[in-house]
Amino acid sequence: MAVKQQARHTLTLTSLLLSLLLQPCRTFAEELTWDQNGYVLYCPCMGRFGNQADHFLGSLAFAKMLNRTLAVPPWIVYRHHTPPYTNVHVPYSEFFQLEALSAYHRVVSLEDFMEKLAPKHWPPIQRKAYCFETAAQRSADKKSCPMKDGNPFGPFWDHVGVDFDASVLFAGISFSAHHQPHWMKKFPPSKHPVLALPGAPAQFPVMEEHVGLQRYVVWSDQMVEEGEKHIAALLTRPYVGIHLRIGVDWVRNASRLQNACKMLTSGEAGPHFMASPQCVGYNRQTALPLTAPMCLPDLGEIRRAVKLWAKRTAARSVYIATDSKSHSREIEKLLKGKVKVVSLDPDSAQMDLYILGRADHFIGNCVSSFSAFVKRERDVRGLPSSFFGMDKPGISNHREEL
Ligand code: GDP
Ligand code: MN
Repeated sequence: MAVKQQARHTLTLTSLLLSLLLQPCRTFAEELTWDQNGYVLYCPCMGRFGNQADHFLGSLAFAKMLNRTLAVPPWIVYRHHTPPYTNVHVPYSEFFQLEALSAYHRVVSLEDFMEKLAPKHWPPIQRKAYCFETAAQRSADKKSCPMKDGNPFGPFWDHVGVDFDASVLFAGISFSAHHQPHWMKKFPPSKHPVLALPGAPAQFPVMEEHVGLQRYVVWSDQMVEEGEKHIAALLTRPYVGIHLRIGVDWVRNASRLQNACKMLTSGEAGPHFMASPQCVGYNRQTALPLTAPMCLPDLGEIRRAVKLWAKRTAARSVYIATDSKSHSREIEKLLKGKVKVVSLDPDSAQMDLYILGRADHFIGNCVSSFSAFVKRERDVRGLPSSFFGMDKPGISNHREEL
């Protein structure tokens, strides 16, 4: 009797232990049920992190507009200069909390969608691609969506294990709220459960009404932990964070940019260029001029702005994030060695973003979507930001030029 009882005891204990052991593996994802309202899938196939982040906010809004669950794609990280040169697909949750998005709208990671839902609800023979007629024009038969043509398209869908069997084309429709009823009517979820798109259903740069969605993009615990460690080890507050977007690819852009800047007065090229609405304003009619130092600050402008903000904030250190040269020597000299000048080595784009986001003051580049990510996040937290060539966002540095 006693033995039996003990055996039963051991059994319950074992199962208790087992369930405890299994607990951490049981994710939110395993309880996934199919959403009858359908899904939106897309490849973040345009640009690097800043562009992908802009597109992500618009796509999140698009999914909500159609009341479909957004399958959150991994970030595409390019390794143009480091072997093996293939793209890396970083799960959204490695940088940010997936759960934090749920406060705004229903989401599932694309990885979980493929692993837990697709085998049953979106099997290989039913995988249709959706694209603009104009995009399909580029295909051999002019009727197929170019879902996997070239890089990063092919590697992205290969990474998630998807081939497409058919294409559904559309025209005369946009991703804006104006066309919401068209989408609902044209693609009811009962007949079109999964809208898989070759690119983000969003604009670049992010639309003004979606800028605030940044509040749902919350750093993962791991990023916070690592970021705070760097800040504590390297920086003394108050610190000014600066983003120097001055590398070769930017300078190549800059000839285009500077043309755009120079043509301002002629009225031919508007002040809107890439991410510039963030500082000149979204309204084309009232937008401020985009000047050369805002496009591509030279060392003189970098020194001017850093000196100004270091003084205003009584900075004890300066954090430099850069796509190329940090100019740290010049900046150290400028601040007479009294302010610690720091950059991260080796640098990581996301860690730079995190540290810039937490600075006591941030100086960004008007035209860069990488800067825009930081600016949006700081706005959410009520932290101050300025730009090279524009000390007060929305107000020209040189009023007399107006
Ligand atoms: P944009 O081109 O400035 O609008 O921003 P993108 O993010 O689309 O492309 C720039 C890319 O260059 C980033 O994603 C980074 O990979 C790299 N980059 C630019 N600035 C920095 C920086 O300050 N630090 C690091 N680590 N990378 C940067
Ligand atoms: Mn870019």
